[in-house]
Amino acid sequence: MDEREQILWTALEEVKDPEIPTVSVVEMGIIESVLIDGPRASVTMIPTFSGCPALHVIRDDIAEAVRGAGFEAEVIVSRKAWSTDRLSESAREKMRAIGLASARPHGGNVEWEMLAPVPCPYCGSENTAVENSFGPTLCRAIMYCNGCRQSFEKFKPL
Ligand SMILES: [Zn+2]
Repeated sequence: MDEREQILWTALEEVKDPEIPTVSVVEMGIIESVLIDGPRASVTMIPTFSGCPALHVIRDDIAEAVRGAGFEAEVIVSRKAWSTDRLSESAREKMRAIGLASARPHGGNVEWEMLAPVPCPYCGSENTAVENSFGPTLCRAIMYCNGCRQSFEKFKPL
């Protein structure tokens, strides 16, 4: 990776996911690729949820960060489907820290992931149950931990 590419990635790491403000779009696996061509940087992003209202926000934030790093910005929205498997270890860790359980890496076997017990992000107990499969957003379910008697949210597998 050359120096300009390094600068670009550092700038992208400053762009946070609007839904999970502690996690960057890089950690979320939203950035598919970057291409620097002279003064211009093209960033290809994978939208996390189709029709997600945050898409425009993320796109604008990425473009702004790219310009802030001194490039002409081009942001391309990929047709590739995002998966919770793209979440980095640091994203999972930061989500756990704010009481949000992330889907485990499932390699495409979403049903297996849905059926497996969900460890509580607060106490680690697997004695948890779905309280409401429709959380505050389409991508989250509300869970309840019988261990520490707290509700938490789970990022549904995709
Ligand atoms: Zn618990």
